[in-house]
Amino acid sequence: MSITHKKTEFPQSTRADVLQNPVFVGIEQAILEQRIPPGMRLAENDLGDVYGVSRTIVRAGLQALSQAHLVTLRPNRGASVANPSPREAREVFEARELLEPRSAREAALNAKPKDIADLRLHALAEHEAMQENASGRALRLSGLFHVKIAEIANQKTIAEFIESLVSRSSLIIALYWTKSSTRCDEGCHNALIDAIERHDADEAEDLMRSHLVDIHSALSFGVADKEHKTLKDMLGIDLSN
Ligand SMILES: [Zn+2]
Repeated sequence: MSITHKKTEFPQSTRADVLQNPVFVGIEQAILEQRIPPGMRLAENDLGDVYGVSRTIVRAGLQALSQAHLVTLRPNRGASVANPSPREAREVFEARELLEPRSAREAALNAKPKDIADLRLHALAEHEAMQENASGRALRLSGLFHVKIAEIANQKTIAEFIESLVSRSSLIIALYWTKSSTRCDEGCHNALIDAIERHDADEAEDLMRSHLVDIHSALSFGVADKEHKTLKDMLGIDLSN
C-alpha cells in the first residue's frame, strides 16, 4: 500500500514569504535557542493559537521548517521538531568536512574585494549577536557564513549541498553542543577571511578543515531530557493579552 503525500496541504513559499511567516521565524528561533526539544509534537491548533494566525500560515511555516530540516512532517501524524540521531549528526559533519575545505580553497582563488567586505560585515553581525547573547541568531549567522563561502567559491551545486548541510547542522549543534564557548569561534572565521583575502588557497582549505573538525569533536551525544512543559510554555508567549 502506498502512502499518498498531500502536497497541497503544505504550500511552497518563497524565501521572503518564509521570513514574514511568524510560525517559521518563532519556531526556528525556539529550536536554535533550545527552548523546545527534539521530537516535540507541534500541533497546528496550538501554533495557530500561539501566533494568532490561520491554518494556512501555520502549514506554510511548517513546510518551510521541514525544508530547513528543523521539523519532520509525517502524513497523518503532523509535525514534530526534528530529532537527528548521533549517526545522522556524524554523517552531516563528515559530509561538510569533505565538501567545505575544497569550497574554501575555491573561494580563496575566486574572491573579489566586494566578497571580502561582505564576509567582514557578516562576521561583525555574528560578533554582535554573540555579544548580545542572542544564541539563536548567532547560530544562524555562523551557519550562513559557511554558505557565503560556498557561494564565493561559485560552485552552485556544491553550494546547495552545503546550504542544506549547514541548516541541518544548526539543529545538531543546538542539540549536541557541549562547550560553553561560542559555536563558530570568531577567531576561526576571521582567520578564514584573512586567508581568503590573501588568496592563500592552501591556508583557507586547512583552516576550514580544522574548524569543522573542532566543531564536530565538541558534540556530545548524551542529551538530558527537558523538563515537561507544554508547547505554549516553551514558546514563552503570554496568551492572556
Ligand atoms: Zn564556522
